[in-house]
Amino acid sequence: MSKRDYYEILGVDENASVDEIKKAYRKLARKYHPDVNKADDAEEKFKEVKEAYDTLSDPQKKSNYDRFGHADPNQGFGGAGAGDFGGFGDIFDMFFGGGRRDPNAPRQGADLQYTMSLSFKEAAFGKDTEIEIPREETCETCDGSGAKPGTKPETCSKCGGSGQLNIEQTTPFGRVVNRRVCDKCQGSGKFIKEKCRTCGGKGKVNKNKKINIHVPAGVDQGQQIRVAGQGEPGANGGPHGDLYVVFHVQPHEFFERDGDDVRCEMPISFAQAALGDEIEVPTLRGKVKLKIPAGTQTGTSFRLRGKGIANVHGRGQGDQHIVVRVITPKKLDERQKELLREFSERSGDHQVDEQHQNFFEKVKRAFKGD
Ligand SMILES: [Zn+2]
Ligand SMILES: [Zn+2]
Repeated sequence: MSKRDYYEILGVDENASVDEIKKAYRKLARKYHPDVNKADDAEEKFKEVKEAYDTLSDPQKKSNYDRFGHADPNQGFGGAGAGDFGGFGDIFDMFFGGGRRDPNAPRQGADLQYTMSLSFKEAAFGKDTEIEIPREETCETCDGSGAKPGTKPETCSKCGGSGQLNIEQTTPFGRVVNRRVCDKCQGSGKFIKEKCRTCGGKGKVNKNKKINIHVPAGVDQGQQIRVAGQGEPGANGGPHGDLYVVFHVQPHEFFERDGDDVRCEMPISFAQAALGDEIEVPTLRGKVKLKIPAGTQTGTSFRLRGKGIANVHGRGQGDQHIVVRVITPKKLDERQKELLREFSERSGDHQVDEQHQNFFEKVKRAFKGD
């Protein structure tokens, strides 16, 4: 099988610059990398692309290839292809911002996270507030360069500005290139002779930044909002990162939240439950009246439509649920006892007995398992 032309494989012409070759290679390597592309021929294509790049990116090999093509007598022995599998790691570095990243390229600043504590009502109704976050700012004295005003950072002489040092070793399995961060410039690619006094050469200073935050009505525990562009400043002219505000909602002593609904319990007396009554119930927006019908059982739930929390995405309003608890009186005076005894005699207690009987039948059945 005849081998394809290397230029053809990479899709570049013979006068392509080193950068163009590299660019074409990265694009194709990313497309065919076996960890990314699951097609059957992906690995084959990947090897082909890599072989083409290995040859065309090396001036010596490229000139041989230009003269002899695939017939190059030196080709096939080691050179490109065989034994060069260290390549996988290098490619991943390129994709995912590892070793070979250009330290002078614009980079977005880091994202920041801020936890905001809210009361139950603040979360329900939202609020506008100002927070102060410690954040890095571009140093104004040196305009972020890190160099003393009037001077400029120089390109690092040890690594040539790449921020990396390549250490080549020959092993029985082929050539291995180890890369490490340049010790002279700590990977920045720049060397500052005279450092800015304000920032000590970092180009950034720590400041407390005040930011206005709009807390939308209806936020819940653990939810967050993104404030675009309020994270750390970028490097080399890159944009700011984002600020994420995470909400911590304090529990309420009376209300409990269930999505957009609010739940609470209301104690009522035995007489209120039996005779019915109108009671006052607190809601998030003040007290409202609630009618308790005669004969209400403990645990009965009443709903106040629309008295809950506004949906944070603007989808309506929750309800408030009120569960009534009938309180059995603990302290009775003689007269009250007398009345209750009379009440008990009058009602004959047979209603209660009937209910008890039903209840115990159910329990019995449950234990039998049918
Ligand atoms: Zn400075
Ligand atoms: Zn360096």
